[in-house]
Amino acid sequence: MAFLKFEDIDKSFGKNNVISKFNLEVEKGKFIVLLGPSGCGKSTLLRMIAGLEKIDNGKILLENNLLNDLLPSKRQIAMVFQSYALYPHMNVYQNIAFGLKSEKIPKNLIKDKVIEAAKILKIEQLLDRRPKELSGGQRQRVAIGRAITRNPKLFLFDEPLSNLDAALRSEMRVEISKLHKKLKSNIIYVTHDQIEAMTLADKIVIMNKGNIEQFGSPDDIYNNPKNVFVAEFIGNPKMNIIKIRKEDIVNKDTLNLFNNRIKFENSNFINDIYVGIRPEDISLENKSEIAVEISIELIENLGSEKIIYTYLNDTEIRIKSNKNIKDKNITIYLPRNKLYLFDSNKNRLKT
Ligand code: ADP
Ligand code: MG
Repeated sequence: MAFLKFEDIDKSFGKNNVISKFNLEVEKGKFIVLLGPSGCGKSTLLRMIAGLEKIDNGKILLENNLLNDLLPSKRQIAMVFQSYALYPHMNVYQNIAFGLKSEKIPKNLIKDKVIEAAKILKIEQLLDRRPKELSGGQRQRVAIGRAITRNPKLFLFDEPLSNLDAALRSEMRVEISKLHKKLKSNIIYVTHDQIEAMTLADKIVIMNKGNIEQFGSPDDIYNNPKNVFVAEFIGNPKMNIIKIRKEDIVNKDTLNLFNNRIKFENSNFINDIYVGIRPEDISLENKSEIAVEISIELIENLGSEKIIYTYLNDTEIRIKSNKNIKDKNITIYLPRNKLYLFDSNKNRLKT
């Protein structure tokens, strides 16, 4: 039995169809990340799970119980928002205790729960402060604390780290990951940040315009993207995608890749082909079948590594390297087994 199940979910705002025929099954105890560009329907989906948004068609089931018509308060779900949603006139203790108080839980039990959550999140010394006396990271911890005390079946996080600066974001990312391991909780986490998705998720749902492009583990999505959208969404800098001109399709199983004839067994090239290669898979040293002379346009020095910008078939490409480069004209090597091929619809071809 799936822990959480979406069956043919539809959602529109007026004429704007945001989610259509969304189907997904999630196992128990997993950290699931919904990743996609802004506006693709991630928050809408989360809000439908929480009961903050009506479902037009389809079913959402939590442990086989239909959620659709349950009041939000009866769903045993806690949501953490990007905006923290803390009460400004209450101190940290009161903010964390708020949900429990409205459930009429005895005072001493509330105290135990608040202290326990504060310990987990290392904010015990802040319980008397008001939100305005806290940093962004501390406020987010309070919001998470409030969710933990509810002991929900499912946690929902909507871009919880987006308002934090880069250093704090990576610190909180690690904290959230530890929290998941410790509490063994079920989490659905929304973000547009691929690094958060890669580092936090057991499984990633890549969304685009209300549809699922791919559902898989971070490794699976990085190594086996199903299409160009997924291939370009994961990885920084993103995968290079180069269109192969008609005249470079030598025959049904051979391509002329930048003046190297490369055979792909069992292929049937007819239409346009796109070749993909990740910046980190291009080598300046390890010679391989496909060697290309290039002229460097620009080098970005990131300290531990450099990003080289150049052109292949009139497409700008990026190469990641930690070598010191002095010449403008160099040879790069594209390992045959690191190439991805996509058809004219930008879907992955087996190679
Ligand atoms: P994401 O969280 O992925 O950025 P959202 O789920 O917030 O995307 O929004 C998806 C689409 O639905 C957007 O086009 C957005 O403008 C629209 N939308 C979201 N909420 C509403 C609303 N309450 N009324 C009208 N349109 C909405
Ligand atoms: Mg959103």
